[in-house]
Amino acid sequence: MGVKDSMDSYHYGLGGSELIYETHAMVHSYNILFVHLSYDNSHLIYCDSCHNSENLLGCVGMKKNKYCIFNKAYQPDEYKKLKEKIIAYAKETGEYGEFFPPQLSPFGYNETQGQVYMPFKTREEAIRAGYKWEDEATTGTFNKETLKPETIPETIDEIQDSILSEVLVCVGCNRNYRIVNNELTFYRREKIPIPRLCPECRYQKRLSLRPPRQLWHRKCMCDYKVHQNTIKHPDHSEGVCPNEFETSYSPDRPEVVYCETCYNAEVV
Ligand SMILES: [Zn+2]
Ligand SMILES: [Zn+2]
Ligand SMILES: [Zn+2]
Repeated sequence: MGVKDSMDSYHYGLGGSELIYETHAMVHSYNILFVHLSYDNSHLIYCDSCHNSENLLGCVGMKKNKYCIFNKAYQPDEYKKLKEKIIAYAKETGEYGEFFPPQLSPFGYNETQGQVYMPFKTREEAIRAGYKWEDEATTGTFNKETLKPETIPETIDEIQDSILSEVLVCVGCNRNYRIVNNELTFYRREKIPIPRLCPECRYQKRLSLRPPRQLWHRKCMCDYKVHQNTIKHPDHSEGVCPNEFETSYSPDRPEVVYCETCYNAEVV
């Protein structure tokens, strides 16, 4: 069971799928257009979270239903007529033929993985592109801490199990957070102190360690006169390496960047 005659979809195909277009999260589906998170269906158009159903248009959260428009059931011939009328109208207004527009997203762009992988620099840029923006992206609990960061012992060996019932406060964003049992076990095993940052700030910190999702065209920086290379490199036996390549390390970064050949010659 695979995927047949389908395109422009994400996270789909399990259980076999055919005639799927512009969808997200489909399982075992046939003839599905512009639908989000729906399993075991056939002949769905513009639906969200509908399962085990067939012939639905513009429905949300339906299970084991057929011939429904905007969650209301019709006789099959009525359904067909009304469906065609609605589609003809939506084609006229230009609303038909693409996945749900970003304006309908329940989330601000900055709350989603979109901002991680294809970030907008400013709120205004995102709004201009048709996305929502969450101005109070810092959701959570505040001022409920039972333990101040400065009173938490420095080393994990000094931490009692009672930390599991404490409410901590993030030194980065003041949000409250807790330590859970498996986490404490992990910190003890790895000899890691209790984090002073909340999970969200830790996530952001990890992300900031990644190079950006952007490539720069650069020249190999390998030069026998400058660097103490230990062996002769295959692409140049002296002087500067002539190789150029794409790298996620921008030219203004401090690291020395070699081409793959020179790099491998030195490290392998
Ligand atoms: Zn935080
Ligand atoms: Zn090189
Ligand atoms: Zn080299």
